[in-house]
Amino acid sequence: MNESTTQSLNYSTDAKQLQFDKRYLKMACVWAENSYCRRRKVGALIVKGRMIISDGYNGTPAGFENQCEDDVGQTKPYVLHAEANAITKVAKSNNSSEGATLYVTSAPCLECAKLIIQAGIRRVVYCSEYHHADGLALLQRAGIALLYIETDDM
Ligand SMILES: [Zn+2]
Repeated sequence: MNESTTQSLNYSTDAKQLQFDKRYLKMACVWAENSYCRRRKVGALIVKGRMIISDGYNGTPAGFENQCEDDVGQTKPYVLHAEANAITKVAKSNNSSEGATLYVTSAPCLECAKLIIQAGIRRVVYCSEYHHADGLALLQRAGIALLYIETDDM
């Protein structure tokens, strides 16, 4: 195989991966609509080997009331982020998130970044910058590949 053939093969693989990334991220955006939270709806998918192995959206723990905000509109402290719900759903299953990609509609916060690292997730694809950059910085420090795709670009 000559060099130009190798390059064109790599290019088509990357282009195809980007197309998949955009579509999975779009699905995460649709999934966010499940959230009962009024302040902010976030969706997440965990994909491994082109298979969705988990999903999540921000909300209260199973068995609790659905409302995410208290009487004064503050988010309740026990609301789980979409990433945490997706990761803990894998923990309940027979699957493993080792080496998986996380698609999330908002850049992960610091707490979720810790979970992402410990869950063995290797890539994070997201579409909306979070007001705290410390989560992204921690992921970067752990060597996790980050890909930001603008919503307009999906
Ligand atoms: Zn979070």
